Order: sequence, then structure tokens, then C-alpha cells
Amino acid sequence: MTQIVRTVSELRALVRGWKVQGDVVGVVPTMGALHEGHLSLARAAKAECERVIVTIFVNPKQFNNPDDLKKYPRTEEADADLLRGVGVDVIFAPAPEEVYPTGFATTVSVAGVAQPLEGALRPGHFDGVATVVAKLFGMTMADRGYFGQKDWQQLQVIKRLVRDLNIPVWIVGCETIREADGLAMSSRNARLRDAARRVAPALYAAMTRAALAVRAGDSGALETCAAEVQAAGFDSVEYIELRDASTLGPAEGRERPLRLLAAAWLDGIRLIDNIPV
Ligand code: AMP
Repeated sequence: MTQIVRTVSELRALVRGWKVQGDVVGVVPTMGALHEGHLSLARAAKAECERVIVTIFVNPKQFNNPDDLKKYPRTEEADADLLRGVGVDVIFAPAPEEVYPTGFATTVSVAGVAQPLEGALRPGHFDGVATVVAKLFGMTMADRGYFGQKDWQQLQVIKRLVRDLNIPVWIVGCETIREADGLAMSSRNARLRDAARRVAPALYAAMTRAALAVRAGDSGALETCAAEVQAAGFDSVEYIELRDASTLGPAEGRERPLRLLAAAWLDGIRLIDNIPV
């Protein structure tokens, strides 16, 4: 049975009971508007943990754009149906005041890996993410946390966070789930109008070609990729960059794994994607 829990005290009481039995607890933090990408995380958690908590919280602190926060889809009933289907134990869906009560004054800020790319373009975003994830780990007392590679830089920020603060949660990074045409699933895709939705897969397609070109030694691969994305009908490309896969610093040589990461605007929606190179 899947329980919906709204308060930290109720959540803690349940988790304490599980821990007494020795159950391994997994947590899947989400902002709701669930799709197959989120469900794949919940299924991975179910396969590896005796107990699974999926959190649904549209975290105001990680939105640098108030309009994006206002327009963020909220579909809790449909989300709960999907999670019942997966068989998760608890949906933790707190109100903002439960997470950030009056007087809340702490920010968790990761330097280094959180600074380039999304960190530079969305000021305060990763502070909001790191703060809420640290809190969710404290609230849920989970042993394992499941995150998508779709948000690659976020995954590296969270790995850094738990290492630096000795948070005893094992971080699991799960593969990006895509639509049949290659578009990475995202809650924001629902806001793309039909014509834009047809253009959207061009980002992944161009990135896939660019990754092959980089491997073949083509020094103009990233410029070509940006031009292709633009020509396909995207409004603008914020970045298409090759980086060290774990530090997100400059890609130096081929001794360390590299990642191709991109952000581009289409139909007023900001889409991000990343692939290994
Ligand atoms: P969000 O609700 O967008 O904050 O995402 C919650 C979690 O789901 C994050 O760890 C995301 O990386 C992950 N996620 C979102 N989209 C996908 C996807 N297409 N494939 C895999 N994981 C995803």
C-alpha cells in the first residue's frame, strides 16, 4: 500500500519502524509531473531497497525564474496513481511551510562542480537543489538516493555534497529515459506546442552526431552541433560543451571520461540534455 505523507514527524515515525527491522530505505526526490524517467528511478529503488520513498516537492528555492515556478506542472493525483502502480511505500509531499518554516536560514552551497554551465546560467539554482536534497536526506534518513543522469551536473553536485558533508546516503545515477524519437523525457516537454515538439528531438540527434565527430577528432564538432540545432528551429542555444564528466571542468585529453552537455531554448521552454563521449 502506498501512503501519502505530508509531515516530517509522520515520515520519521514510519522510517524508524522500517529501520528497526533492518530495511534498506531508498529515496527518489522529484518535483512531480511524473513521467517514465521518474518511474524508472522508482523502479530501480524498488529493485534495490526494501522500502521506497518518492518525494514530490516543487522546490521554490531552485527556481531562478519566478515564471517557470508558477508554470511548473502540478499533477499530484495522477502522480500518486503512477507511484501506486510501481508499488512505492510512501509519497512524501510536504507543503512549502513544512520544508521551509518561518525562520529558515541555512543554505547549502557547493562550489567547483556547481559553478559552470547550469550554475552560471541559473544563479542560485544549485544552492536550492543542494539545500533541499540535504534536507530530504535528513528528513527521510534514506540509505540510498536515486537521481537521473538527465540532470548530469546536478548528479555530480549531489555526489560532491554527500562526500563533503559525510551524508551517509549512497547516490545512484540512473540512465536518461527518452521518447521514441530521442527527446529526453522532462516534465517541461508537456508545455511544448505541437510544432515545437516535432523540432525538439533535433537536439539529441545533433548531439549524437557531435559526439561521434568529437571522437573522430573534428575540432569544429561543437560549432556544427549548435548550428544544426539552430537550423532545426530552436530559438537559441545557451551552450553545447564538452566537459570532464565528473568535475564539469574543461575537457582535458581522453584519460578521463568526457560528457557533452547542452541547453537550448525552444518555444519558450529551456531544454537540457547530455550524453557520454
Ligand atoms: P525533477 O522532477 O525534474 O526534479 O526530476 C527528478 C529526478 O528525475 C531527477 O533525479 C532527474 O534527473 C530525474 N529525471 C528527470 N527526467 C529524467 C529522464 N528523462 N530520465 C531519467 N531520469 C530523469
